[in-house]
Amino acid sequence: MPVKSLPVKKATKAAKKSVKTATKLSKKRSAVVAESKTKNAAKKKPAKQKIVTAGVGVAAKLKKKASLKTKVKEDSNSRRKSTPRTNPKPKTKPKSKRLPRCKLSASEIEGLFARFAADTPEPKGELNYSNPYTLVVAVALSAQATDVGVNKATDKLFKLADTPKKMLALGEDKVRELVKTIGLYKTKAKNVIALSQKLIDEFGAQVPQTREALESLPGVGRKTANVVLNIAFGQPTIAVDTHLFRVGNRTGLAPGKDPLQVEQGLLKSIPEHYLLHAHHWLILHGRYICLARKPRCSLCIIKEFCKFKDKTDQA
Ligand code: SF4
Repeated sequence: MPVKSLPVKKATKAAKKSVKTATKLSKKRSAVVAESKTKNAAKKKPAKQKIVTAGVGVAAKLKKKASLKTKVKEDSNSRRKSTPRTNPKPKTKPKSKRLPRCKLSASEIEGLFARFAADTPEPKGELNYSNPYTLVVAVALSAQATDVGVNKATDKLFKLADTPKKMLALGEDKVRELVKTIGLYKTKAKNVIALSQKLIDEFGAQVPQTREALESLPGVGRKTANVVLNIAFGQPTIAVDTHLFRVGNRTGLAPGKDPLQVEQGLLKSIPEHYLLHAHHWLILHGRYICLARKPRCSLCIIKEFCKFKDKTDQA
């Protein structure tokens, strides 16, 4: 069958129609796509909302958990405060204040003091004084000075003033002049006047008989108080000076790092019946026999009991 050819006009019309249709379709497609996008967007909104809502939910849960934790912690703290520890941590032990041990046995100590007692039954100090007041002044002046040097100065001083009242009348300048041969004489003269004033003001011009009251006087320390209590009032005290400190340590009777330790060690180890004279026996022994640089061990009456490792002149 022969193909009928369309006339040219008809063909152009048909082509134009086809282009129009395509354009329409394209527009329609675009509109559908756009509509679909809008719809999707509209659909996605609630989803977004959901996510946000879900986020809020997690945050709330976390917050709740945290508050629960805080509450538990607070509860445990309050329980800890209100409930006393059944097993408290032991406190650090205070340092022991035990004295170093005496190196002599009780029989050795007895033997040692028996020797002193047999040698010098009534030992005496070497400072000159005429009453408790002059003794206080002499001992206060003797710090870092020899007894011989103090006696030279007090010979004149005590002739002019042997009571607190007379000392005040003498005045600081005159006292200073009289004791100027003794070391630290300016301070010592000042103290002598001040202690005399205090004795008048607070103790009826009498020397007190307690360590506490004595130590309250200007220029009077523990050592001076112990000497006065022992010599003037017959109390069994021990004043530890440089000699006594050395003897206490060398012999082993009362090892100690400071005078107070040695004093306490001696008071503990010396039998009561020897305590009154122990101060003088030991101080004189240190001054004349147990010398600092070279102890005179060959002349020592207690060498048999002494624990010093480096004894000299041994037979
Ligand atoms: S033996 Fe020597 S060291 Fe010991 S007390 Fe006598 S003098 Fe001092």
